[in-house]
Amino acid sequence: MDFQLTEELRQLQLSVRRLAQEKIRPRAREIDASGEYPQDIFDEFRRADLLGLCIPEEYGGSGAGIMGLTLAIEEVTKYSNVLGLMLLLTRLPTGPIMIAGSEEQKQRYLPGVANGSERAAFCLSEPGAGSDVAGMRTTASEDPGVTGGYRINGTKCWISGGMQADWFVVFAKVGDPNLRHHSSIRAFIVDASAPGVTRPRVDQKMGVKGIDTTEIHFDDVAVPADQVIGGGFSLIMRSLNAMRPIVAARGIGLAEGALMYATNYVMEREAFGKTIAEFQGIQWEIAKCATEIEAARLLTYRAAWLADQGMFSKEYVPALSMAKYYASEVAVKVSGVALQLLGAAGYMTDHPTEQFYRDARQLTIVEGTSQVQLGLIGRGVLGHDLWWD
Ligand SMILES: Cc1cc2nc3c(=O)[nH]c(=O)nc-3n(C[C@H](O)[C@H](O)[C@H](O)COP(=O)(O)OP(=O)(O)OC[C@H]3O[C@@H](n4cnc5c(N)ncnc54)[C@H](O)[C@@H]3O)c2cc1C
Repeated sequence: MDFQLTEELRQLQLSVRRLAQEKIRPRAREIDASGEYPQDIFDEFRRADLLGLCIPEEYGGSGAGIMGLTLAIEEVTKYSNVLGLMLLLTRLPTGPIMIAGSEEQKQRYLPGVANGSERAAFCLSEPGAGSDVAGMRTTASEDPGVTGGYRINGTKCWISGGMQADWFVVFAKVGDPNLRHHSSIRAFIVDASAPGVTRPRVDQKMGVKGIDTTEIHFDDVAVPADQVIGGGFSLIMRSLNAMRPIVAARGIGLAEGALMYATNYVMEREAFGKTIAEFQGIQWEIAKCATEIEAARLLTYRAAWLADQGMFSKEYVPALSMAKYYASEVAVKVSGVALQLLGAAGYMTDHPTEQFYRDARQLTIVEGTSQVQLGLIGRGVLGHDLWWD
């Protein structure tokens, strides 16, 4: 067992840490306040070659894997959860293509994301089907005029980066949408400019501002045969399983950022004739948060390592889901403690603690809520996928 990062990963971690301190820390509050898409930071990521971290070298990426992306997102999210999301979006929609796409699809769609000339989004959730993925109502019917082609009809919602995306991975059911057959679900690559695609609504969110979530309508959208990925329900699950450490990285990064900020504050703030850092009650709060962050980090790095070994099928679900569940809950907890440690100051917009607190709440909802993760972990233990003898 080796707890050291390789020299390459360590250098990546240090270089992203510098970029985050120099470029992201000064911009994070402005991005939150304006809610505008931070194109300048996207350009910084492109120049630093961070958009293709998890894309293999043969498709234009740097091949740093899920571990590399996890480390980069952790560093970035110490200052901005939305910029962690910006990096995450290089993997979420490309994942199904890397897992189940054809060689032609990989060559057509992966290099553009890696070099920043294209952006993509992942369209799974629907107004009536979030956690209940198999309840989706979007349909894909065979296009009578086009061999192997389909026509997609339906509505997807809360789609991160939907407004900026040049293409989407869309999940839809072939056949009767009332049926819950796992094999009826397929993945499709849909060009955002295709006739019948509209983006009528952008959500007003409490946090993670700067990258919108969007409703997207598909009205008889033609998808040619070479844009059908296929898959089934298991492709959704494998895609999301491999993402667990990447979402978890946002949780640990956010918690680290919030705790570092609050720790610096308590060493300056005086009450009762001393700094509040001198009170044991304050030290214990910091110690508990630090311990939970490190536990979440270990789960997250192990999950990233597993995913990079291709270990993201059903039997690895408990280990992957624990990372996402625990790291996102730690982010919520630590951001709350950090705000409390600043007292009134923490509640005001003069400090980033209120933003950490708002931004953290997203993490226990997206890509499988905490309750959904607990269900997956519980079933894994009941089925002995996680067992200790
Ligand atoms: C900011 C943001 C960005 C998002 N980005 C994307 C995106 O890019 N692409 C995309 O496809 N989706 C996206 N989503 C949607 C997200 O994946 C869903 O919100 C999530 O899957 C939960 O679905 P839901 O909101 O419909 O909640 P519901 O499924 O309606 O759940 C409501 C509550 O019930 C609980 N619950 C549901 N089922 C169970 C159960 N079996 N046992 C116990 N409790 C249960 C849930 O945990 C939750 O607390 C985004 C959401 C947000 C907030």
